[in-house]
Amino acid sequence: MKRFDKDGRLIIPISERKRDREKEVTYVITEAYCPNGCNIIDQNYPINGYPGLRMKFKRPGEEGEFVISAIEADFDKIILSGTLKNGVKDDLYCPHCAVMFEKLVSCNCSPDADMVIVGLTPHLDFNNAITFCNVTGCHNGTFVKSGAVLRHIRLHDVL
Ligand SMILES: [Zn+2]
Ligand SMILES: [Zn+2]
Repeated sequence: MKRFDKDGRLIIPISERKRDREKEVTYVITEAYCPNGCNIIDQNYPINGYPGLRMKFKRPGEEGEFVISAIEADFDKIILSGTLKNGVKDDLYCPHCAVMFEKLVSCNCSPDADMVIVGLTPHLDFNNAITFCNVTGCHNGTFVKSGAVLRHIRLHDVL
């Protein structure tokens, strides 16, 4: 039942997932890269059946690593080290080369929140990327495709 869409992303028909969304398909990210082109998909940490995206996080007084789900709208994550704090922002870094992930736009959940962008190609292309909020517990904490965010900004001028 699985197949790839024209961009090479895996599509899971909704019948294989919880039917709590109106969308027909859910995206699974099979490739993700830091701004320097390191692959951050970690085969050692599958979440709900798919290898997750591994990142380092840092905020004053705390740092660690986590793996987030590669499945769109899936909030599950694995904390490898350190602790996250609800409502608090962390800057996110590549676990391999330590470069910081870039920010696309602000998130409106808190004054300093950012939507972090992760490329789906080794060379960052804002139209072929995912974005999510870097504040723990934010409703934008699961990723959406950046194209949708950019369209939203163009239409409404704010996020
Ligand atoms: Zn890197
Ligand atoms: Zn947010």
